Amino acid sequence: MKALRLMSWKSEPELVEVAKPTPGPGQVVVKIGGSGACHSDLHLMHDFDAGAVPWNPPFTLGHENAGWVDSIGVGVTAVKEGDAVAVYGSWGCGKCSRCQLGIETLCERPMEQPIPGGGGGLGLDGGMAEYMLVPFERLLVKLPGKMTPADAAPLTDAGLTPYHAVRRSWAKMQPESFVVCIGVGGLGHMGVQFVKATTGARVIAVDSKPEALELAKRVGADFTVVSDESAVAKIREITGGIGADVVIDFVGAESTMKMAMGSARSLGDVTIVGIAGGTIPFNFFSQAYEVSLQTIYWGSRPELVEIFNLADRGLIQVEHTKYSLDNAAQAYKDLQAGKIKGRAVIVP
Ligand code: NAD
Ligand code: ZN
Ligand code: ZN
Repeated sequence: MKALRLMSWKSEPELVEVAKPTPGPGQVVVKIGGSGACHSDLHLMHDFDAGAVPWNPPFTLGHENAGWVDSIGVGVTAVKEGDAVAVYGSWGCGKCSRCQLGIETLCERPMEQPIPGGGGGLGLDGGMAEYMLVPFERLLVKLPGKMTPADAAPLTDAGLTPYHAVRRSWAKMQPESFVVCIGVGGLGHMGVQFVKATTGARVIAVDSKPEALELAKRVGADFTVVSDESAVAKIREITGGIGADVVIDFVGAESTMKMAMGSARSLGDVTIVGIAGGTIPFNFFSQAYEVSLQTIYWGSRPELVEIFNLADRGLIQVEHTKYSLDNAAQAYKDLQAGKIKGRAVIVP
């Protein structure tokens, strides 16, 4: 079968021929129906060196995956051949207290994971291929109703990560609150929708691209602001001089982190999701009083079930463009060039 593989750090991925996987005991092989192209993969291709993460290439890319069960190993009972499923992407040990709660992203026994701190498409083979091996049946979530794998795949990261960020700050998203979403790409356009679908707060979307701001408006943003030196002043003006209750930075560059801290109201939350590598000073006086600064990493299995429910009811949806597996490398080039609206999804 064909697979788009990262062969070494600091390189472009290659479409190569590999063997179709077979499931061992407790394992499942999924025929891929959708695999999302995440900006994190661009960081993997261009920014990472050996030692940055506890695993190395070569591996097949694609950590946002969904499809149909192709074959099951001995002892698998939760799914059967032909079931439409999504793959929860962060593969923990399954036994520690965090994993028991479904928070496999924060597994406390990395050495007992299939690969420390990774999963399919992150050190092990992912879904940018015709088939993918999933090591445990608990990592599969059945798709509800009419949801297709191409719709579901980006929900497993471009959906799950912003949902986790929004959910963590729910208490500060009251009807009178303002939430700023910086960077309205794959993750950000879902962040806007989760605030609107699950809270009464108003959303101020910030991006440097006019098309991204148009998308933000279309998916429910109440206000849009161009990302430049005047953005903090504009956010202050929209919020009546007070600032935003929650700011979620889906870029994570120095300029956006500065914007985030400058826009937050006292007692506000600033959440850094993007991993563009920015740093900012943090001391008693560097932001309004009692602002909390946090990072977040992906989301939990129960949260994935929650967003499938929201999607099944039509409350959220991923704006996406489909690419064939033969054209998957082009999807990443287009993502790099800022040409993708929402998410690019590879459909083999
Ligand atoms: P994307 O390329 O689809 O979207 C990025 C958006 O940010 C684009 O609309 C772009 O125009 C906008 N942008 C870029 N620079 C900007 C600036 N200075 N001001 C305002 N807007 C700006 O990327 P994505 O797939 O949504 O990922 C976003 C980030 O989140 C990446 O860094 C990715 O690696 C990271 N990520 C983190 C997690 C996590 O668990 N923390 C999970 C997935 C992705
Ligand atoms: Zn990702
Ligand atoms: Zn664990």
